[in-house]
Amino acid sequence: MPTDYDKLSPGERQVTLSECRQHIREVPVSRAIRSVIVHHTWRPAASDYRGLSTVRAVRRYHMKTRGWSDNGYHIMVGPSGDIFLCRPLSRPGAHCRGQNQHSIGLSYIANFDSEDPTDYPGTAIGQQVVAALLQRFWLTPEDVHFHREYANKTCPGKNLHLDEYRYQVELLMSEHTDDIKVVLLPGSQVIACRPRLEDGTTRVDLRPLAAALDCEVYDHLADQGKVYLRRRARTMEDLQNLAT
Ligand SMILES: [Zn+2]
Repeated sequence: MPTDYDKLSPGERQVTLSECRQHIREVPVSRAIRSVIVHHTWRPAASDYRGLSTVRAVRRYHMKTRGWSDNGYHIMVGPSGDIFLCRPLSRPGAHCRGQNQHSIGLSYIANFDSEDPTDYPGTAIGQQVVAALLQRFWLTPEDVHFHREYANKTCPGKNLHLDEYRYQVELLMSEHTDDIKVVLLPGSQVIACRPRLEDGTTRVDLRPLAAALDCEVYDHLADQGKVYLRRRARTMEDLQNLAT
C-alpha cells in the first residue's frame, strides 16, 4: 500500500501574519518551551520556492527519506513572507539534535549561505513570527538560537548574524506590546478601547472610543464598507450636568 503522505500532516496550512499570531497566542502547548531555533532549508533555496508545494516537498522528504512523523519544522517562511504552519507546536520537532524537546523550529525557505536575507521580505516576517513566539512563551531575544550553535553547519546561513537577528526581534517585540494607552486630551482620561499594534497599525475597539468622544456608532453598513458615527444628542439632563 502506498502511503498518502499528504494526509499525515494535520497542522499543515498557510496563514497570514495575524492568523499566525493568533494561532501562537491561542494554541494549547503543554510541553515547556525554552527556545526558538532558526534554520534555513539550504535546498530548496529561495529561488526554488513555489509556495505550498515547496513546503510539502520538504515534509515528504522528512517523512519518506528521514522517516520522521511529520515536517521536522514547526513553521516555515517563504522568501515573499508566506507563512506555513507545519508540525503542531504542541509536539517536539525534528530540527535540531538534542534540542527538540523544549524548542520550536522555524525555517526560512532559502539558502542564506549564498542568498542575501535582506533581499527577501520573508526575513523580517520570520522575525515577527519569532517575536510572537517569544511573547507567548515568556522568552527573551537571548532565547533565539541558530542551528549552527548546536551543529557543525552554517544553518541558517552565513549571511544571517545572530546578534543582528536578535536585535531586530527585540525591536519588533517592543513595538508589539499590548501596553499602549489611548489618552483623551485635555486631561488624562485613559480610554478602555483595547489598543494594540498589528502590522504597524494601532487598532482599537470603535465603540468605547466613540463613546469617549461623545459619539455613538449609528450604523454599520457592512455592504458599503462604512461605519457611521454620530454625535450624541444632548438631553436637558446632560446640559444640566455640564452646567454643574
Ligand atoms: Zn538547521
